[in-house]
Amino acid sequence: MADFHTHLSVAAAGSGLCSTLCLGAGIVSQTEVVMLWSAGMLGGILPDIDSDNSTAIRIIFTSLATLFAFLLMFNQAEYLSVLELWVLWLACYLSIRYLLLTAFIQFTRHRGIFHSLLAGLFFCFCAAAISHHFFILNGLLAWLVGIFVLVGFLIHLLLDEFYSVDFMNKRLKQSAGTAFKLIDYNNAVTSGLMGVAVILMFFLTPSTELLINTLTSQDTWQAVSSHFLPAGTWFQVPQVVQ
Ligand SMILES: [Zn+2]
Repeated sequence: MADFHTHLSVAAAGSGLCSTLCLGAGIVSQTEVVMLWSAGMLGGILPDIDSDNSTAIRIIFTSLATLFAFLLMFNQAEYLSVLELWVLWLACYLSIRYLLLTAFIQFTRHRGIFHSLLAGLFFCFCAAAISHHFFILNGLLAWLVGIFVLVGFLIHLLLDEFYSVDFMNKRLKQSAGTAFKLIDYNNAVTSGLMGVAVILMFFLTPSTELLINTLTSQDTWQAVSSHFLPAGTWFQVPQVVQ
Protein backbone atom coordinates (compact mmCIF):
# COMPACT_ATOMS: atom_id res chain seq x y z
CA MET A 1 0.00 0.00 0.00
CA ALA A 2 1.31 3.40 -0.96
CA ASP A 3 1.66 5.97 1.85
CA PHE A 4 0.02 9.40 2.10
CA HIS A 5 2.93 11.34 0.61
CA THR A 6 3.27 9.00 -2.38
CA HIS A 7 -0.46 9.29 -3.07
CA LEU A 8 -0.35 13.07 -2.80
CA SER A 9 2.73 13.42 -5.03
CA VAL A 10 1.51 11.09 -7.79
CA ALA A 11 -1.98 12.67 -7.76
CA ALA A 12 -0.39 16.14 -7.91
CA ALA A 13 1.68 15.12 -10.95
CA GLY A 14 -1.21 13.38 -12.78
CA SER A 15 -3.66 16.13 -12.01
CA GLY A 16 -1.07 18.75 -13.04
CA LEU A 17 -0.69 17.15 -16.47
CA CYS A 18 -4.47 16.92 -17.02
CA SER A 19 -5.13 20.48 -15.83
CA THR A 20 -2.42 21.85 -18.17
CA LEU A 21 -4.22 20.06 -21.01
CA CYS A 22 -7.44 21.92 -20.07
CA LEU A 23 -5.52 25.21 -20.03
CA GLY A 24 -4.05 24.40 -23.46
CA ALA A 25 -7.54 23.65 -24.76
CA GLY A 26 -8.57 27.12 -23.63
CA ILE A 27 -11.55 25.85 -21.62
CA VAL A 28 -10.32 27.13 -18.22
CA SER A 29 -8.54 30.25 -16.99
CA GLN A 30 -5.24 30.31 -15.07
CA THR A 31 -7.03 30.60 -11.72
CA GLU A 32 -9.45 27.80 -12.58
CA VAL A 33 -6.59 25.50 -13.50
CA VAL A 34 -5.30 25.72 -9.90
CA MET A 35 -8.77 24.75 -8.67
CA LEU A 36 -8.84 21.68 -10.95
CA TRP A 37 -5.34 20.70 -9.88
CA SER A 38 -6.36 20.88 -6.21
CA ALA A 39 -9.51 18.82 -6.95
CA GLY A 40 -7.29 16.10 -8.46
CA MET A 41 -5.08 16.08 -5.39
CA LEU A 42 -8.13 15.83 -3.12
CA GLY A 43 -9.33 12.84 -5.18
CA GLY A 44 -5.88 11.31 -4.77
CA ILE A 45 -6.20 11.09 -0.99
CA LEU A 46 -9.98 10.53 -0.73
CA PRO A 47 -10.07 6.68 -0.84
CA ASP A 48 -7.98 6.48 2.35
CA ILE A 49 -10.72 8.09 4.43
CA ASP A 50 -11.66 4.49 5.25
CA SER A 51 -8.28 4.00 6.93
CA ASP A 52 -9.00 4.98 10.55
CA ASN A 53 -5.59 6.40 11.45
CA SER A 54 -4.67 7.92 8.11
CA THR A 55 -3.61 11.52 7.62
CA ALA A 56 -6.19 11.64 4.81
CA ILE A 57 -9.19 11.13 7.10
CA ARG A 58 -8.10 13.94 9.46
CA ILE A 59 -7.36 16.39 6.65
CA ILE A 60 -10.63 15.67 4.85
CA PHE A 61 -12.88 15.87 7.91
CA THR A 62 -11.18 19.05 9.20
CA SER A 63 -11.57 20.67 5.76
CA LEU A 64 -15.20 19.54 5.42
CA ALA A 65 -16.02 20.77 8.95
CA THR A 66 -14.44 24.19 8.29
CA LEU A 67 -16.06 24.52 4.87
CA PHE A 68 -19.59 23.67 5.97
CA ALA A 69 -19.30 25.70 9.20
CA PHE A 70 -18.45 28.80 7.14
CA LEU A 71 -21.13 28.10 4.53
CA LEU A 72 -23.76 27.75 7.27
CA MET A 73 -22.53 30.89 9.03
CA PHE A 74 -22.57 33.02 5.86
CA ASN A 75 -26.00 31.66 5.05
CA GLN A 76 -27.39 32.86 8.39
CA ALA A 77 -25.35 36.09 8.62
CA GLU A 78 -28.34 38.31 7.77
CA TYR A 79 -30.60 36.93 10.49
CA LEU A 80 -28.40 36.23 13.55
CA SER A 81 -26.14 38.22 15.89
CA VAL A 82 -22.35 37.77 15.76
CA LEU A 83 -22.38 35.74 18.99
CA GLU A 84 -25.07 33.41 17.65
CA LEU A 85 -23.07 33.01 14.43
CA TRP A 86 -19.98 32.01 16.42
CA VAL A 87 -21.99 29.39 18.35
CA LEU A 88 -23.48 28.09 15.09
CA TRP A 89 -20.03 27.86 13.48
CA LEU A 90 -18.58 25.98 16.45
CA ALA A 91 -21.53 23.58 16.70
CA CYS A 92 -21.34 22.75 12.99
CA TYR A 93 -17.55 22.35 13.08
CA LEU A 94 -17.55 20.07 16.14
CA SER A 95 -20.43 17.92 14.83
CA ILE A 96 -18.64 17.17 11.54
CA ARG A 97 -15.08 17.00 12.85
CA TYR A 98 -15.82 14.78 15.84
CA LEU A 99 -19.34 13.22 15.79
CA LEU A 100 -19.50 12.46 12.08
CA LEU A 101 -15.86 11.34 12.00
CA THR A 102 -16.41 8.91 14.92
CA ALA A 103 -19.55 7.51 13.26
CA PHE A 104 -17.71 7.23 9.94
CA ILE A 105 -14.81 5.32 11.53
CA GLN A 106 -17.30 2.93 13.17
CA PHE A 107 -19.04 2.07 9.93
CA THR A 108 -16.18 1.80 7.45
CA ARG A 109 -13.66 -0.93 6.81
CA HIS A 110 -10.26 -0.27 5.19
CA ARG A 111 -10.12 -1.25 1.53
CA GLY A 112 -13.90 -1.75 1.61
CA ILE A 113 -16.39 0.17 -0.50
CA PHE A 114 -14.33 3.39 -0.47
CA HIS A 115 -11.64 1.66 -2.51
CA SER A 116 -13.95 1.02 -5.47
CA LEU A 117 -14.88 2.62 -8.78
CA LEU A 118 -18.47 3.03 -7.53
CA ALA A 119 -17.23 5.25 -4.66
CA GLY A 120 -15.12 7.21 -7.18
CA LEU A 121 -18.28 7.93 -9.15
CA PHE A 122 -20.04 9.03 -5.95
CA PHE A 123 -17.30 11.53 -5.10
CA CYS A 124 -17.22 12.76 -8.72
CA PHE A 125 -20.97 13.54 -8.63
CA CYS A 126 -20.67 14.93 -5.08
CA ALA A 127 -17.87 17.34 -6.10
CA ALA A 128 -19.79 18.46 -9.22
CA ALA A 129 -22.98 19.05 -7.20
CA ILE A 130 -21.24 20.96 -4.36
CA SER A 131 -19.24 23.09 -6.85
CA HIS A 132 -22.43 23.99 -8.71
CA HIS A 133 -24.86 24.58 -5.83
CA PHE A 134 -22.60 25.98 -3.08
CA PHE A 135 -19.82 27.63 -5.09
CA ILE A 136 -22.04 28.66 -8.03
CA LEU A 137 -19.66 27.35 -10.69
CA ASN A 138 -21.18 26.91 -14.16
CA GLY A 139 -22.04 23.41 -15.43
CA LEU A 140 -18.76 22.98 -17.32
CA LEU A 141 -16.46 23.98 -14.46
CA ALA A 142 -18.47 22.06 -11.84
CA TRP A 143 -18.27 18.88 -13.96
CA LEU A 144 -14.55 19.40 -14.55
CA VAL A 145 -14.02 19.61 -10.78
CA GLY A 146 -15.95 16.33 -10.43
CA ILE A 147 -13.95 14.66 -13.21
CA PHE A 148 -10.65 15.77 -11.66
CA VAL A 149 -11.69 14.31 -8.30
CA LEU A 150 -12.45 11.06 -10.15
CA VAL A 151 -9.08 11.13 -11.97
CA GLY A 152 -7.23 11.60 -8.65
CA PHE A 153 -9.34 8.84 -7.10
CA LEU A 154 -8.50 6.39 -9.92
CA ILE A 155 -4.79 7.24 -9.64
CA HIS A 156 -4.99 6.34 -5.93
CA LEU A 157 -6.65 2.97 -6.59
CA LEU A 158 -4.16 2.09 -9.35
CA LEU A 159 -1.23 3.09 -7.15
CA ASP A 160 -2.48 0.87 -4.32
CA GLU A 161 -2.70 -2.05 -6.77
CA PHE A 162 0.74 -1.26 -8.15
CA TYR A 163 2.15 -1.43 -4.62
CA SER A 164 0.62 -4.88 -4.15
CA VAL A 165 3.06 -6.34 -6.68
CA ASP A 166 6.21 -7.69 -5.08
CA PHE A 167 8.68 -7.03 -7.90
CA MET A 168 11.64 -8.64 -6.16
CA ASN A 169 9.92 -12.00 -5.68
CA LYS A 170 7.72 -11.66 -8.77
CA ARG A 171 4.52 -12.42 -6.91
CA LEU A 172 1.37 -10.63 -5.76
CA LYS A 173 0.92 -9.57 -2.15
CA GLN A 174 -2.26 -10.46 -0.28
CA SER A 175 -3.64 -6.95 -0.81
CA ALA A 176 -3.79 -7.45 -4.59
CA GLY A 177 -7.24 -6.82 -6.02
CA THR A 178 -8.56 -5.02 -2.91
CA ALA A 179 -8.12 -1.47 -4.22
CA PHE A 180 -9.08 -1.31 -7.88
CA LYS A 181 -12.49 -2.96 -7.96
CA LEU A 182 -15.93 -2.08 -9.31
CA ILE A 183 -17.81 -2.58 -6.01
CA ASP A 184 -17.07 -4.18 -2.63
CA TYR A 185 -17.63 -7.83 -3.56
CA ASN A 186 -17.49 -8.91 0.10
CA ASN A 187 -20.30 -6.66 1.24
CA ALA A 188 -23.48 -6.54 -0.82
CA VAL A 189 -25.22 -4.15 1.62
CA THR A 190 -22.63 -1.36 1.51
CA SER A 191 -22.25 -1.80 -2.26
CA GLY A 192 -26.05 -1.52 -2.65
CA LEU A 193 -26.19 1.57 -0.41
CA MET A 194 -23.37 3.19 -2.36
CA GLY A 195 -25.20 2.39 -5.61
CA VAL A 196 -28.31 4.17 -4.33
CA ALA A 197 -26.19 7.12 -3.11
CA VAL A 198 -24.58 7.40 -6.57
CA ILE A 199 -28.00 7.55 -8.28
CA LEU A 200 -29.38 10.10 -5.78
CA MET A 201 -26.25 12.25 -6.06
CA PHE A 202 -26.48 12.21 -9.87
CA PHE A 203 -29.82 14.03 -9.65
CA LEU A 204 -28.09 16.85 -7.75
CA THR A 205 -25.40 17.36 -10.41
CA PRO A 206 -25.69 20.20 -12.94
CA SER A 207 -26.66 19.59 -16.57
CA THR A 208 -23.94 17.90 -18.65
CA GLU A 209 -24.87 19.95 -21.74
CA LEU A 210 -22.02 22.49 -21.44
CA LEU A 211 -19.48 19.74 -20.75
CA ILE A 212 -20.57 17.59 -23.68
CA ASN A 213 -20.69 20.60 -26.04
CA THR A 214 -17.15 21.58 -25.02
CA LEU A 215 -15.71 18.07 -25.24
CA THR A 216 -17.30 17.39 -28.63
CA SER A 217 -16.44 20.81 -30.07
CA GLN A 218 -13.83 20.83 -32.81
CA ASP A 219 -12.43 24.13 -31.48
CA THR A 220 -11.45 22.45 -28.19
CA TRP A 221 -9.48 19.67 -29.88
CA GLN A 222 -7.94 22.05 -32.40
CA ALA A 223 -6.73 24.22 -29.49
CA VAL A 224 -5.26 21.13 -27.78
CA SER A 225 -3.41 19.95 -30.91
CA SER A 226 -2.12 23.44 -31.78
CA HIS A 227 -0.84 24.01 -28.22
CA PHE A 228 0.49 20.53 -27.55
CA LEU A 229 3.79 20.68 -29.43
CA PRO A 230 6.11 23.71 -29.71
CA ALA A 231 5.35 25.75 -32.86
CA GLY A 232 9.02 26.40 -33.68
CA THR A 233 12.18 26.02 -31.63
CA TRP A 234 11.69 24.65 -28.09
CA PHE A 235 11.38 27.26 -25.30
CA GLN A 236 11.42 30.14 -27.77
CA VAL A 237 9.32 32.88 -26.17
CA PRO A 238 7.43 34.99 -28.73
CA GLN A 239 8.72 38.60 -28.88
CA VAL A 240 6.26 41.24 -27.72
CA VAL A 241 5.92 44.03 -30.28
CA GLN A 242 6.13 47.43 -28.54
ZN1 LIG B 1 -5.61 3.42 -0.43
